[in-house]
Amino acid sequence: MPRLGVCGWPVAHSRSPAMHEAALAAAGLEGWSYQLLPLPPELFAETVRALPAAGFRGVNVTIPHKHAALALADSASAAAREIGAANTLTFERDGAINADNTDAPGLIAALGERWDPAGRRVLVLGAGGAARAAVWALLRAGAADVAVWNRTAERARALTGELGGRAVEEPPPAEIVVNCTSVGLADRDATFKALPLQADSLGAGSCVVDMVYRDGGTRLLEAARTRGADVIDGLEILVAQGAASFERWTGRTAPREAMRAAVGAIAST
Ligand code: NAP
Repeated sequence: MPRLGVCGWPVAHSRSPAMHEAALAAAGLEGWSYQLLPLPPELFAETVRALPAAGFRGVNVTIPHKHAALALADSASAAAREIGAANTLTFERDGAINADNTDAPGLIAALGERWDPAGRRVLVLGAGGAARAAVWALLRAGAADVAVWNRTAERARALTGELGGRAVEEPPPAEIVVNCTSVGLADRDATFKALPLQADSLGAGSCVVDMVYRDGGTRLLEAARTRGADVIDGLEILVAQGAASFERWTGRTAPREAMRAAVGAIAST
């Protein structure tokens, strides 16, 4: 029976199993399963290497294993190599492990035709793993300007020095804003104290993407929606990256509506 899963530490609250189980059922892949694989860092590599023999076709990888996943793979996509992290491992028939990063195409897929970044000015907030994938994807998609702001300015400079875009200390006006910080996750009300944005700057004619997702939605998207901006929820990004992983593992078109319903995402643009 083919098996899939998500490796993280801890990974107890992941919505990926519900999303992928729904996808497998909707695609008629009977007998396939998707499970949580909580793995401390010291057990990650040896456990992952044993997964193909246990019937696994692939796994998602999340914090804190995305760098280790790339390091142990036998081959890697350009996205994973250049971003420096993998969120998807696929086990080939000969046992080889391929690493990919579907966070990057997931963001572009979630932006859709309406917010195709080609030629647009984009502001990315953050300089961690999610920001690296976002900057790489936006530049590859032809964004005219990718400005990167981060609380620790040196990290924004290091990121843009490596991947492109430009580090900024004062966020410029942008048509697309992508929050890749974890601000708003633990404390909804901290959002506009921690981020260099005025709620009033998020208006009609712009699109605000929040990688963060939480029950009840985030304060950032609530403010943006109220002022007439299009918004894309972190759950929509979760579905988009999960759909790309599902297609790599199964060769089937991902049933996005079933995945969306399973995680409770709202199609929001
Ligand atoms: P990470 O590598 O740990 O980076 C965290 C980022 O948040 C850094 O830029 C950090 O700035 C910033 N930050 C943290 N606390 C802050 C604060 N109080 N004020 C200002 N900035 C702060 O994490 P990540 O992997 O990039 O993930 C970032 C967020 O995106 C997480 O909430 C994660 O759950 C979410 N995410 C969602 C998806 C999805 O599918 N929707 C996918 C990936 C990630 P410093 O450098 O100054 O510390």
